[in-house]
Amino acid sequence: MISKLLSDGTTQHTFVDDAKWIGIQQPNQPMFKTKWTNLDMPVSRTWEFEASDRSKKAGFMKWVVTMVNNKLICDCGGYRYGGGQCKHTKLAHTEL
Ligand SMILES: [Zn+2]
Repeated sequence: MISKLLSDGTTQHTFVDDAKWIGIQQPNQPMFKTKWTNLDMPVSRTWEFEASDRSKKAGFMKWVVTMVNNKLICDCGGYRYGGGQCKHTKLAHTEL
């Protein structure tokens, strides 16, 4: 993995073998909070949700739900640790 410090203070991570995955780590945030995006995935639809006040304090202003291969994926921590579901994917699902 290549990690590069950007001028805005965030660190950009890219994998050497699988460069289509890109991660943006906020300054002073641990690695596990890095937001990963697969640039190669066929995204058919996206939703944006405003982050909670607690998340905003941690530097996250919004969460993005993307529809990939008919599956809803959210980039918030709740999705990652909630077994592939979070309040955002549920909200997006009601709009389908
Ligand atoms: Zn979410």
